Amino acid sequence: MRDDNCIFCKIANGEIPTTTLYEDEDFRVILDLGPASKGHALILPKEHAANVYELPDEMAAKAFVLAKKMAKKLSDGLKSDGLNIVQNNGEPAGQTVFHFHMHLIPRYKGDKDSVRLTWDQGTLTEENKQEILEIFK
Ligand code: 5GP
Ligand code: ZN
Repeated sequence: MRDDNCIFCKIANGEIPTTTLYEDEDFRVILDLGPASKGHALILPKEHAANVYELPDEMAAKAFVLAKKMAKKLSDGLKSDGLNIVQNNGEPAGQTVFHFHMHLIPRYKGDKDSVRLTWDQGTLTEENKQEILEIFK
């Protein structure tokens, strides 16, 4: 299924021009228009899924294999010092485009001020731990 109102459906399927690094029958890998760092790329499935929960298992598996391949090529080619694979689901998690995508963000020594992917460390309380363990029983 493709969503007529979804910009990433249009980009993934070649209806809107973009910088493509890789394409196959299921995915297009493009350069992010507002890169966090040099080489920031996005993996877009061609079929619409709003988020990871809607993504079919087969596509999820393929997406991660592709992410691994692209991450290696990007970081070797750009000689980056590290690379984050980021995937946001829902507005509070930072998702702004509601078509599943994975970010590949090459990292360079000293880029911490411009690429912020950290959080304040909290404390694992006994109450939270029990509540979470209950879900997985
Ligand atoms: P999200 O915040 O949803 O995880 O990530 C959306 C990403 O898509 C952002 O990093 C943003 O810069 C990028 N983006 C949004 N619109 C476009 C576009 O039209 N073309 C490209 N190449 N990237 C886009
Ligand atoms: Zn879409």
